Parts: sequence; C-alpha cells; structure tokens
Amino acid sequence: MSNYKNFIEQIIEEDLNNGFKRDELCFRFPPEPNGYLHIGHVKAIALNFELGKKYNAPVNLRFDDTNPVKENLHFVEEIKNNIKWLGYEWSKICYASDYFEQLYEWAHYLILNDKAYVDSQTSEQIATQKGTPTNPGTNSSYRNRPKEESTRIFKEMREGKHKEGAHVLRAKIKMDSQNMLMRDPVMYRILFKDHHRTGSKWCIYPMYDWAHGQSDYIEKISHSLCTLEFKPHRDLYEWFLHQLPKENKILPKQREFARLNMSYTIMSKRKLHQLIENKIVSSWEDPRMPTISGMIKRGYPAQALINFVKKAGIAKRDNIIDVSLLEFYAREELNRICPRVMVVTDEIKLVIINYPEDKHETLEAINNPEDESQGKREIVFSKHLYIEREDFREKANRKFFRLSIGKEVRLKNAYIIKADNCIKNEKGEVIEVHCTYDPKSKSGSNSEESRRKVKGTIHWVDVKSSIDIKINEYDRLFLKEKPEGNDDLLKNVNTDSKKLIVGKSEKFVSSLKKGQKVQFQRKGYYIVDDIQHDSMFFNKTVSLRDGWKKIII
Ligand code: ATP
Ligand code: MG
Repeated sequence: MSNYKNFIEQIIEEDLNNGFKRDELCFRFPPEPNGYLHIGHVKAIALNFELGKKYNAPVNLRFDDTNPVKENLHFVEEIKNNIKWLGYEWSKICYASDYFEQLYEWAHYLILNDKAYVDSQTSEQIATQKGTPTNPGTNSSYRNRPKEESTRIFKEMREGKHKEGAHVLRAKIKMDSQNMLMRDPVMYRILFKDHHRTGSKWCIYPMYDWAHGQSDYIEKISHSLCTLEFKPHRDLYEWFLHQLPKENKILPKQREFARLNMSYTIMSKRKLHQLIENKIVSSWEDPRMPTISGMIKRGYPAQALINFVKKAGIAKRDNIIDVSLLEFYAREELNRICPRVMVVTDEIKLVIINYPEDKHETLEAINNPEDESQGKREIVFSKHLYIEREDFREKANRKFFRLSIGKEVRLKNAYIIKADNCIKNEKGEVIEVHCTYDPKSKSGSNSEESRRKVKGTIHWVDVKSSIDIKINEYDRLFLKEKPEGNDDLLKNVNTDSKKLIVGKSEKFVSSLKKGQKVQFQRKGYYIVDDIQHDSMFFNKTVSLRDGWKKIII
C-alpha cells in the first residue's frame, strides 16, 4: 500500500491521532436510486470502499430513497449489480426509507424543542421570503405557531388529512443566516405517492438534508464523504445532528471532495435521462453512455474504471479528466486479458498463385503473447484469403510497409508473400491481388526463411472458413470537450457516434460467448454483444492506439 495519503485520509489519520477509535471508523456509499450509476459514482464508490479496506472498517451501501417520484426498484437492483461488478462488497445494505419512522419521531422531538414548526404558506410565499444571498429572509407568519398546534398538524399530515402543498414542516433556524440553506429549510412535504419500499404507508416524505445526516447518525458512520456541492449543506448537516437526543457518541463528520468530470460526456443523471428521452441513445446501458452499465456493454473491464478513478485522485477542486486516460487503462487491462483474432473489415481478395487450389492447412497462432496460459489456436490457410483494402497499394512510397506490387510482407502467423499483380473492376478499384508465397517461410518453423525479416506484417482471413460478423463502432457522444456549456446540451451531440460495419473473421470467434472480450489484431478491443441465430454482434471498446490525443502519465 502506498504511503501517499489523500486529504480525506489525512483527516482520518488526524482524527485517529486525536483519539478517535480505529474500530469506530465506518463509511457508506449513498446513491439515490433515480437513475443508473456513472463513472463519477465510481470515484465515490472506490473512495469509500478503498477506505474500508485500508482501515478494515465497514462500508454500507445506503439508498437515499426519499423521493418516490423519481426512484424505483429497478434502479436499486442495477446499482447493486454495478457495485458487485466493480468487485466491492458492502457490509450492510441500508435504506433511508427504513428510518422514516425514526425520522418522524425525531421531527416531533424538534417541534417539542421549538426547533421546527409547521408552515401553512404556499411554496411561492416561502420562496419569496427566503431572501437572496445579499438580502436576509423574512420570518413566516407561522414561525411562532404554538408547538401543540404544529405537533397536531404534523401528525395529521402523516395521516393523510391534508392536501399536497397545504403544509410543510420547517426547521426553525435563522432567516437572516448568511447561508441560505439555514433559512428555516423544509424538512417534510406532503406527497401522495407510493414508495417502492414503503408502499402507501407514507404520504409525507423527508427532504434530503433531514434524511441524510440522520441516516449517517443511525448507522454510526464516522466520515460522511460527499461531493463539493454539499459543502454549503455542512452547517445544516451539523445543526440537525446537534438537535437530536444524544444517544450515540459518534457524530458523523461530513467532508467534501471534488466531483469527477470527464471530457466529451456529461455526469448528471438528469441530463443522461434527457439523452434517453430525446432518443440520442437507446437506454441507460447504451455503450456510449458514461454509465457503469453502458461501459460494461461497451466492454470496459472493471479494473480499468477503478484504475482510472484512482489516477484521477481525490481533489478539493473540480477538474475535468480526459476520457483518453480511461481508454489508456482500458487498453492496458484488455491487452493483458484478451485473446487475439484476425478480422478483416474492408476486404479485398488475395490469391496465392503458387498454392494448390484444393489444399488447405492448419496453422498455429498464439492467443495472447502477454499471457502464455491462454494457449494457442488453429487457423486455416489456403489459396484464397481476404486482406484489408488499406493494406495494399499498387504503387507505394518508401514509408508504406504493407503490401505493394513487387514487395514482400508477412501474413501474420503464416507465410511471407510477394505481390505480383492486381485485378481491378470497371471503376478502377482493386478487387483482387495475386501473389506468390514462400513455402519455407512458415511462422514458427525453424527454417532460416521463417526468420527472414520483412518490413511489414498484415492480418488476413481464409475465405472459405471465414465467418461474417457485425460490429458496432462508437465515437465520442459529444462534439465538445465540455458539452455542458451555456448552450443547449443537445446541440453538442455528435450525431455520428454509432456505426454498424461488417467483417470477416477467422473461425475461432464462433467459440466465443456473449460478453467475452477479444482483440482484433491491428484494430482494437471488442466484446461479443449478442449472438442471434448465426449472427455475431460485437461492440468496439477502444482502438489499439489512441487516435485522439497523446496523453502523458
Ligand atoms: P447526479 O448529479 O449524477 O444525479 P447525484 O449526486 O445526484 O449525481 P447520488 O446518487 O446522490 O447522485 O450520488 C451518490 C454519491 O455519489 C454521492 O455521495 C455523490 O456525492 C457521489 N457522486 C455523484 N456524482 C459524482 C461525481 N461525478 N464524482 C464523484 N462523486 C460523485
Ligand atoms: Mg444527489
């Protein structure tokens, strides 16, 4: 484990040095189940779960499910699956909704202590009284309502005796506070909406600020880590905790870190939802989405996501990390785990003139030079092959190391060939290249010819045994590095971010199962997305090389 400590770890170390007990450390990851998790959440997940590992402390998964209007069970399940996929295990699974009864009791306790009151003004009136950052707010005419009356109405609110919007429960703090969030914030609103866990039991729901800190308190969370936008909430977080009957000795400590932002994409669930609604993408798990589920479908390995967020680091100020860093870690990981196969996507025929028409032979290819344990596979070689159109030029300059008339190249895993001539269609396009091969130059044999150096190696596929495959290729979802500027988000969408192409593949791919990842040699990394009848569909994860920009790490 490295000795470097990020600022959150430094805070924890300081607390330990000041006498906080190590075995009382406890963390949580608190998603709201109102959408899918994205790569930004991976940062928060990795931060909390890695702290748990480092200090051997529990980490809870807590669903912040206080808004039944936007939340549902499907999101809950998907979030659980995503965290497991990342390889993390939570100690306890908790739900803010499990604490509704306790929160309700504590709200009464606040009323009793003159720290909360029922306000019966409209939300518009409440909003105008809030003031501005430079002007203080005004007290509500209900602020000094007798506590017996507030208690009674609050109870009736729970019993469903009042309409939505008729009353709210507000904390009684300070209407001229510098911090606008302290100006008597709303704690409860009436909402006649079934909840995915509590059903129709409740028709009042706690607001985020009232639910969050108290949930931390109930679970004895020692360090409640959240993103910077919650910094102004910290005063309120602490104020609420101080109003509670003192039962636990641990008051959780809220600390804030910078959100992860990534170039050419967006991170807000609300905006991601907008992309689905506007049919820019097919769903939350569209492979172009920055969601974990999208990235799984795209073929990213979990470790690449984790390495990426760890490299991005825990900062105190917002920043934007280049997506090519994520792609770098994806390549690094995929290079290690993927078997290689040969696939041709824009084919021309290659005919080996001095190879017998009815003969074919089976050659051996190493599956992964980075990992011997992946073994070897058999590939078929014959007189009729496919090669990539771009790997042949009739005449070539000195920098072109692939095939051209009169020049030699090695066919990967096979023989050295020399191009003799080519055949063109009426449009003048090359459709077939004729060549001769050197029978003694077989790869892997021990002959002198097999070791002969030629400048280029190209991939190929045997015509007869080849398999037709379909490939989805993806590009950046947005044209701008920071798509969330001032103008309309949808204006910056890259409308050309998905392309379906076809390819010819060696036979080996037919043994792959859905979800398996491979390298198409000289191209990139791909995942089997679907197998329908006899058709195999692949998603392209990332090219072998970065076509966008060079990054230095
Ligand atoms: P969004 O704005 O995408 O809807 P959110 O903050 O509303 O995100 P939550 O489900 O409330 O989503 O987030 C759960 C946790 O993940 C919170 O602690 C939040 O601070 C953290 N988190 C959310 N987005 C990011 C991000 N981009 N980088 C780091 N942490 C994040
Ligand atoms: Mg949130």
